[in-house]
Amino acid sequence: MLSLDLGRLGREGSVLVEARLPTDTPLWDESGIEWAGPVEVRLKASHAGTGEVVVRGVLEGSLLQVCRRCLEPVPGRFEHAVTLVFLSSDTPGVEDDGSTHVFDAGAEFDMSNAVREELVLALDKYVVCDPDCRGLCPTCGVNRNSDSCSCRVEEDDPRWEALGALKNK
Ligand SMILES: [Zn+2]
Ligand SMILES: [Zn+2]
Repeated sequence: MLSLDLGRLGREGSVLVEARLPTDTPLWDESGIEWAGPVEVRLKASHAGTGEVVVRGVLEGSLLQVCRRCLEPVPGRFEHAVTLVFLSSDTPGVEDDGSTHVFDAGAEFDMSNAVREELVLALDKYVVCDPDCRGLCPTCGVNRNSDSCSCRVEEDDPRWEALGALKNK
């Protein structure tokens, strides 16, 4: 999917890898990320002197998230600059430690998993629709941004919120 041609990298010194990952790509399964549209990937791979392959570029897409307080959809544009470092598995002492990714020596390798990992770490999964979002009533569930209810919860009293949290356990 996001494969890097090592032969070409050797010949040309740097290689551009551009792709558009559709929303239903299996890569996103169980990532907890939902996209509103395809993710644009623009990466440039080059050789570093020490045998590393360094890949720099941008990941861009539109997210489909919900407000953690009121559960309303929060559309969001996502743009993230990445630097990924890859080392061949035949490098002595090589270890996949999260900052260095290991690839199996061969004609090409797939960078998708490294990109996925990068996105999962970079994304803020706890978004709010507005910093002042009033959330849902813990008792009856109405959206307190647009509706009011007569539940006996004193919203602005933090002691009640703590009680509500205990009750929901
Ligand atoms: Zn909200
Ligand atoms: Zn209520």
